[in-house]
Amino acid sequence: MDYQRTGRVVHGWPEVEMPPPHNTAGTWVEVWVDIRCERTGEVRRHVAHELMDGDGISWFLWSDGNFSCDCNRSQMFREAGGEATNWDDVSCGDGAFQVRTINPLTGALHYDEIGGEAHGSEEGRRKEVLDAD
Ligand SMILES: [Zn+2]
Repeated sequence: MDYQRTGRVVHGWPEVEMPPPHNTAGTWVEVWVDIRCERTGEVRRHVAHELMDGDGISWFLWSDGNFSCDCNRSQMFREAGGEATNWDDVSCGDGAFQVRTINPLTGALHYDEIGGEAHGSEEGRRKEVLDAD
């Protein structure tokens, strides 16, 4: 899913235009997610869209929420590689895929299980790992 950026920057994140019914839920922003398959070591970049939560995006979503599970991460990894999603071939678990979330505007790391530098930022390669509350 590739949604158009509006050009607005919300608390440092690029706002995207979401189609109904998601557009009523709040403000959505684009988030880049590097996903590393622990079996092969391959890293793929997934473009995600997340709802602003107060003045930031959710850390919990990736650490303990829906996107912490291997089942969801495996599908993001497939999509990022141009493969069709396959929900018949997934298993829930923890540790088959590691992720880091990146601010597309600054290249700053937001949530990081992989470590190292983020690449491909538009305006720099500033590394800033924020502490979880
Ligand atoms: Zn799962």
